[in-house]
Amino acid sequence: MLDVAIIGAGAAGIAAARRCGELGLTCLVLEAGARPGGRAFTESDSLGAPFDHGASWVHVAEHNPMTPLAAALGFTRFDGPRRQREILLIGDRRATAEERRAHDAACDAWEAAAEARAAEPGPDIPIAAAVPRDGHGGSPWAATASHWLGSIICGVEPERNSLRDYIDTGLDGENPQLAEGFGTLVARLAEGLPIRLASPVRRIRAGRIITVETAGGAIEARAAIVTVSTGVLAAGTIAFEPGLPPAVEAAIAGLPMALLSKIALRGGGPGSPLGLPPFARLGRQVQGPADRPMSWMIAPFGRDQAIGFIGGEAAWDLSRRGPAAAEAAARADLARFFGAETVARAFPEPAVVTDWGENPLFLGAYTYARVGQAGARRLLAEAALADGRLRFAGEACHARYAGTVGGAWASGIAAAEATAATLAGSVAA
Ligand SMILES: Cc1cc2nc3c(=O)[nH]c(=O)nc-3n(C[C@H](O)[C@H](O)[C@H](O)COP(=O)(O)OP(=O)(O)OC[C@H]3O[C@@H](n4cnc5c(N)ncnc54)[C@H](O)[C@@H]3O)c2cc1C
Repeated sequence: MLDVAIIGAGAAGIAAARRCGELGLTCLVLEAGARPGGRAFTESDSLGAPFDHGASWVHVAEHNPMTPLAAALGFTRFDGPRRQREILLIGDRRATAEERRAHDAACDAWEAAAEARAAEPGPDIPIAAAVPRDGHGGSPWAATASHWLGSIICGVEPERNSLRDYIDTGLDGENPQLAEGFGTLVARLAEGLPIRLASPVRRIRAGRIITVETAGGAIEARAAIVTVSTGVLAAGTIAFEPGLPPAVEAAIAGLPMALLSKIALRGGGPGSPLGLPPFARLGRQVQGPADRPMSWMIAPFGRDQAIGFIGGEAAWDLSRRGPAAAEAAARADLARFFGAETVARAFPEPAVVTDWGENPLFLGAYTYARVGQAGARRLLAEAALADGRLRFAGEACHARYAGTVGGAWASGIAAAEATAATLAGSVAA
């Protein structure tokens, strides 16, 4: 019998498997999909340029467990400026230098207001209740700051996102990208591990032993670590016997999936398109309550790509409407800057559109916390079901670096170590 069955071969599952091996425990990772890496996935397009569908920034790199792993494997790191906008549009004209400074100041004010309010005593509130708004004597950039820092980066509207959790999981510090792709790094770290692909887990029975039922048969183990997203857990794809305790169910419901989608427009050959420098960032001022501009990164690593980012409700809407609608929306958004003809000429190849929202193996990009639910992360990380033989790991479970590969990785290691301690205790007893 195995010591540990690990469900899901994303960053958390891979980290847990590596740590189990180091601790002398036998394990098997059961992965529903056709590849390891989960939400860290680099695909080289038909032109040979890597594209990260999911994670691409090594957030807070100075404290991120992925930083030394990337360095040891010789990955190429690029540290760009944190908040630089090459072109900022207001309607159909470019913002002046003064307006750009006002935009930057509005973003700083947004973050400072969130931090100041979170430092006050009192119950948790939505981020939206703490930050400046347009039209109340504030900056004309307040809605743009909310759209960018909230809906796009957090993947959920600030009206629904917990201020406490936003502050607790804030990602400041070094923020490099990897030329070979973050997904490539996570896939390299999975090499040689006991991973069984195309093995969706349907049921986990936690009795004297843990029985994990997959489409291809049942596996028995002394313990299990479940690393699927809270979106997958909430969808009930995996049945638990006995059922999960109400507190764990509540923690899962308190940490729903946010959505960030990317649309990569691709040029016909090498070189930076549109005459912009590598990593150029473009954005538009929000023009009214229904306006949901994309944010753009042009020519990452000098590649012939323009990557549009869209988050929150607008991303869910495009995700439901499918990749053709998302590509059309992206082309129309970029056309605001350069005109439709230039965009069509610069990016003649079909776009690559991410599908994290609709993919049943993820059902979103990363978690946010509902208002009042910041503590759910710790509860899920510390849940020790079946006398500590059934645990959870993954980005949702990291109280500081939730929503990141580094957080998922650290939580996988912590779950493996806690499981090892439980199993050692049960042998001793
Ligand atoms: C668009 C996007 C951008 C992002 N940007 C960044 C970034 O720049 N930097 C950063 O650090 N993070 C970023 N993230 C977040 C980061 O990718 C995730 O936090 C992290 O990869 C999650 O790892 P995980 O192991 O917790 O979960 P996952 O990667 O979801 O792993 C869980 C695994 O379980 C599998 N699975 C699901 N159901 C079953 C089942 N029934 N049986 C067996 N297996 C199953 C899934 O296929 C998956 O492989 C981004 C994510 C997205 C989507």
